[in-house]
Amino acid sequence: MDIRLSSDDLAFQEEVEAFLDTSLDDELRRAGELSSGICGAHEPTMRWHRILHKKGWVAPRWPVEHGGTGWSDMQHYIWSSACARAHAPRLYPMGLGMIGPTLAVCGTPEQQQDYLPKLLSGEHIWCQGYSEPGSGSDLASLQCRAERDGDDFIVNGTKIWTSFAHHANHIFCLVRTDKSGKPQQGITFLLIDMTTPGVSVRPIVTLAGDHEVNQVFFDNVRVPVTNIVGTENEGWTVAKTLLTFERSSAYAARLMMRLAELQPLVAAADEAALTTRFHDLEVRAKAIEMTEFRIQATLAAGQSPGAASSQMKILATEITQALDEISMEALGHHGVPWQLAAREPGTNVKAIGEPAAPKLVADYFNNRAATIYGGSNEVQRNILAKAELGL
Ligand SMILES: Cc1cc2nc3c(=O)[nH]c(=O)nc-3n(C[C@H](O)[C@H](O)[C@H](O)COP(=O)(O)OP(=O)(O)OC[C@H]3O[C@@H](n4cnc5c(N)ncnc54)[C@H](O)[C@@H]3O)c2cc1C
Repeated sequence: MDIRLSSDDLAFQEEVEAFLDTSLDDELRRAGELSSGICGAHEPTMRWHRILHKKGWVAPRWPVEHGGTGWSDMQHYIWSSACARAHAPRLYPMGLGMIGPTLAVCGTPEQQQDYLPKLLSGEHIWCQGYSEPGSGSDLASLQCRAERDGDDFIVNGTKIWTSFAHHANHIFCLVRTDKSGKPQQGITFLLIDMTTPGVSVRPIVTLAGDHEVNQVFFDNVRVPVTNIVGTENEGWTVAKTLLTFERSSAYAARLMMRLAELQPLVAAADEAALTTRFHDLEVRAKAIEMTEFRIQATLAAGQSPGAASSQMKILATEITQALDEISMEALGHHGVPWQLAAREPGTNVKAIGEPAAPKLVADYFNNRAATIYGGSNEVQRNILAKAELGL
């Protein structure tokens, strides 16, 4: 196995880095740097979206006929890693990363023509309506129901932990259309315009002080039957297709950036035990980088990396949380003040103590969720146990 970059890949890396150098202004980089959640502030995120759309790189993973770039797996990896190193704002993943590629595979030609161009341009912003109170890991137990009324469904119920629903104008939902069979049967995948009467969004503000997640309510919401993706009562298959697009594969670059940012803080703390733990995590992050190269080499050879995405998710999120703990210890009492205003893009509020403190503290709280969303780490371990150990 050869994990070195080919001369073509090196040339591509140079092209990508030159583009990022010229296209990312200070405001965009700062927004990327300051964001502790999965996306940055709304305005810079959408400005970056439009810049990438103009360049033709906003949805690189989509099929070429729908606006994708046709890059190789290694080129995608180079792109994601370079964006992380340059602090590019992360785009909303629910549209470009989830429903877009799903519609490209499972949508009707009309749905593809209606939705995909507006998703690329940024006119449509999507959120994901899967989880409900009481239905997260056990998603098939979901209760939000849709009943047929002529050419429409009438939707009633609620979705929770809906990331960025307050910025979205569309939501893709799993709804219950039949209660008679097994829980996985009788679920339908529905596209809902959030401006439809009866849809309301209630904010949930997290410990980090961020407003990212919400609860969405549906009160007699009328949705055309033509908004089904796939077949009525067989939405579970579409949901599983979408989840294959949900997993990210470029964790190492972000971890390397975090290590570089933390290094001076750990050095200044000058505590042997902390330094040892930091170096241990450095080695583990390096192991993740090597594993990602190995996955790329496996893909390039036309083979399947198996359950590697579950493995990567567990390792990367646990290292991230361990780094957060180190940063809190290194900050000491400068980690205590509540410094939300000092973390706003363009703010003139000075941080109390260590300049990086407001961001590091927010990271600590926000990343607690990383082992839960996108399939909790316990559930990922179940997947690994089944796929790799045959248990
Ligand atoms: C910040 C954030 C953003 C989110 N964004 C979205 C979004 O945009 N859209 C959306 O639909 N959902 C979203 N979610 C919801 C997320 O997918 C669920 O929180 C997740 O699936 C876990 O479900 P739950 O919260 O109901 O916890 P539960 O499923 O109740 O789990 C509770 C605990 O039990 C463990 N557990 C559960 N089942 C098993 C099992 N079989 N074996 C071992 N352990 C188990 C879990 O690992 C966890 O530790 C988000 C969550 C967070 C925290």
